[in-house]
Amino acid sequence: MNHFELREGELFCEGVPLARIAGTVGTPVYVYSSATLERHFTVLRTALVEAGLRDEAGGAPLIAYAVKANSNLAVLATLARLGAGADTVSEGEIRRALAAGVPPERIVFSGVGKLAGEVRFALESRISEINVESEPEMRLIAEVAQDLGRPARIAFRVNPDVAAGGHAKIATGGADNKFGVSFSEAERLYAEAAGHPWLEPVGLTCHIGSQISRLEPMEAAFLRMRELAERLRRRGLAVRRLDLGGGLGVPYFNQPEPPAPAAYAAMIARVMAGLDIGLAFEPGRVIAANAGILLARVLHIHERPEGRRFVVLDAAMNDLIRPAMYDAYHAIRPVRPRPGAVAIADVVGPVCETGDTFTRDRELPPLEAGDLVAFMSAGAYGASMASEYNSRLLVPEVLVRGEEWAVVRPRPTYEEMLARETPPPWLDQA
Ligand SMILES: *Cc1c(COP(=O)(O)O)cnc(C)c1O
Repeated sequence: MNHFELREGELFCEGVPLARIAGTVGTPVYVYSSATLERHFTVLRTALVEAGLRDEAGGAPLIAYAVKANSNLAVLATLARLGAGADTVSEGEIRRALAAGVPPERIVFSGVGKLAGEVRFALESRISEINVESEPEMRLIAEVAQDLGRPARIAFRVNPDVAAGGHAKIATGGADNKFGVSFSEAERLYAEAAGHPWLEPVGLTCHIGSQISRLEPMEAAFLRMRELAERLRRRGLAVRRLDLGGGLGVPYFNQPEPPAPAAYAAMIARVMAGLDIGLAFEPGRVIAANAGILLARVLHIHERPEGRRFVVLDAAMNDLIRPAMYDAYHAIRPVRPRPGAVAIADVVGPVCETGDTFTRDRELPPLEAGDLVAFMSAGAYGASMASEYNSRLLVPEVLVRGEEWAVVRPRPTYEEMLARETPPPWLDQA
């Protein structure tokens, strides 16, 4: 469920007409709904708690929201107020989480190529855990920890060798991709870390992919994680936490209906039954995707004599890259629907790439030049993946709460865009 609905023939975000935002801020612009963000977080947490899942201390499991899905500070702060933690993959994301008010003890740091400086920053910030993705990385973390005189709490990211994920570019749980260590490596490294003066292994983590629409691959992966935790414990090693990653899919209209949070939680309760362990999660998409839209304007309708019809928008692949990168499907809805029959069209942006096509041969309601349209389910991996390609200004972001709304990232000016670059001394002559 989300809070983008038609009211008196016009699309609203909560209590605010989208046309009002477009009129003030211009297009393209991302619009997020606080109520939807809050609802998704709360539904997930309630499902986990009601299934009897707990953290190490017996409280609700840690829900470390995956910052990369939507890293706007206002979005992070909205979730932080509900008790969300943060799953981060760079120093920049740790800084964002801290700036948004996420307590360090709810921040985890993942990613296959952490820099020494980033590890140092993570340790200095006293975040909850660093997820180790390889043996060399474990050595790096140990060195930095020793150097700093502060032991590092680590968890090993295990690659359960399970195929899952809505698209090859977002499947992360196969043995042939770059993420995590194998089961045998995890066992050896965990034992070594447990005996290391500057490493404190607290548990295991896995994240097998994104936009996962079936529970079976997750269940297979989580079972293998449980077995590994039990093997480690039989060797006398302390395993306090299992971090089961993110990956739960969301309904993108014409795609397979993903499992409901309650079914996901029940499956985990089944897999973990009788194992006394703290659980943590790293959901991104399931919280943010349907809480945001990309609002764009139709520049013109171009009908080719051979028959193809193009709806040209002022939004482009640099604003929303998912269709170009993952063949992603986003429903496209007119903000003020007109009466009339549907017609087939390609929807494209102004960028000079054939890939700047949001959809081909889509049945669309009637549209005319000047109309506003909303790309639905664009709250995750939308603005956070936006760029200035073609020297288009970075897309702005708006957060709505009830009848209120605020620009939470303004559109930069052309002067600001140009001022970030500096000429080399040999060209810097008037
Ligand atoms: C991207 C990512 C997530 C979030 O994935 P979603 O599919 O958005 O839930 C969680 N954990 C890690 C390590 C990730 O890289």
